[in-house]
Amino acid sequence: MIKHDPDDTIAAISTPVGEGGIGIVRLSGAGSLCIADKIFAGCDKAKPSEFKSYTVHYGWIAKGDEAIDEVILTVMRAPRSYTKEDVVEINCHGGIVALRRVLGLVIESGARLAEPGEFTKRAFSNGRIDLAQAEAVLDMIRAKTDAALKISAGQLKGALSKEINKARQAILDALSNLEVAIDFPEEDIKPDDLNKIKDGLIRSRAILHKILEGARFGRVSREGIHAVICGRPNVGKSSLLNALLKQERSIVTHIAGTTRDTIEEIIDIRGVPVKIVDTAGILEPRDLVEKKAVERSKKQIIQADLVIIMFDGSRKLNGQDETLIRKIGKKTAIAVINKIDLKQKIEVPRLIMKFARVIELSASKGRNIDLLEDAIVNLAYGGKISAIEPALVSNLRHITALREAEILIAQAATSVDNKLSLEFIAQDTKDGLRYLDDLLGRSFSEELLDKIFNDFCIGK
Ligand code: GDP
Repeated sequence: MIKHDPDDTIAAISTPVGEGGIGIVRLSGAGSLCIADKIFAGCDKAKPSEFKSYTVHYGWIAKGDEAIDEVILTVMRAPRSYTKEDVVEINCHGGIVALRRVLGLVIESGARLAEPGEFTKRAFSNGRIDLAQAEAVLDMIRAKTDAALKISAGQLKGALSKEINKARQAILDALSNLEVAIDFPEEDIKPDDLNKIKDGLIRSRAILHKILEGARFGRVSREGIHAVICGRPNVGKSSLLNALLKQERSIVTHIAGTTRDTIEEIIDIRGVPVKIVDTAGILEPRDLVEKKAVERSKKQIIQADLVIIMFDGSRKLNGQDETLIRKIGKKTAIAVINKIDLKQKIEVPRLIMKFARVIELSASKGRNIDLLEDAIVNLAYGGKISAIEPALVSNLRHITALREAEILIAQAATSVDNKLSLEFIAQDTKDGLRYLDDLLGRSFSEELLDKIFNDFCIGK
């Protein structure tokens, strides 16, 4: 990647490309106001460089005599802005031509096109936010559910960083006690000195452990789970998918085996993004197309986090049902007995014996769908849903760093008990600290920054 001067004034279109009511061109850097002066014509002839911070002005963007777009211009002066630099935002009409013309004019007047995520990277480099907060910006943009949004908003506000800083402080306490002790001859070290070291390590470990306990919830909220609906033809798989989607997407029909291929949908079930795949119901393929479909559904079942196996309650279990039960083996599964509105003939005890969760519902009548949703959400969170506090962390990079730090700190604490050498304990403690510093971006490599910010879109 080309290395640019960090003092450049950068500019980009910060809104999605396409037709919109408004579109925003954003500038950041020491030259922002000067550039705005060159291209903005307000009604009272006042210049953007004279505007007060956080004021909004109506006018035109013009190149010489040529009026380009009617705009609203906002000035946010350093250091109280997104990047801690002078920022100008120009609200243009949201057509791509108008936006490109305005951006082109801004570049001609001295700005350079921003790299992906460069505005947020500057907010980080200029010390307004730490790295975990910078990443939260991207997570907020990408959030698929309310729960995921809530976690990233908390992270952006610094909730995660605050807890990590507490853990850091406890580690630093332990380290300073360690360093004092290392300077003394071994026989002069009192049990109380060792207790002080251990206390810091235990405190930090407890904080890290608590954050990590919520991580599963965070991961699930962010990434969702992959569920597969399977069952022999006509048990009501498409009807169930529709009931879950609450809209008609896949074809519901009386003819067996019409859902020839798999249909995928992402549904938000109480904050958990659930990717549900309705597999083809065919068990004994009659032709090549069906054979391929059966192979695909087999693969789907293998990859799934959760299998929803459906049965028709109005019929006895048959050979096809038994084959499927065998195929699922030990995978996490919920058995659904459908068509409870009809006279029931199915052998319920056999299913109760086989599956931890058996739910009786009617897909077409929309009965007990909420029970299935409860079971899905419960399984997604490993059955611990009610015990979990609001998650602080959902990002895999953060979770990995926290886990590594926890392991090292726990190891250091055990080494204190085992009276291992203080240098050895100090090394583990420092390594643990380094993971937290990496997480917050207190120490980082350019490579890591590039990796993180390249995922952003231009203009963020
Ligand atoms: P699939 O082949 O497993 O996808 O099954 P479909 O969803 O296409 O449903 C097969 C048939 O069963 C259709 O005629 C549905 O209307 C019917 N069906 C689905 N759910 C129920 C239910 O809860 N009660 C009754 N009585 N019929 C249902």
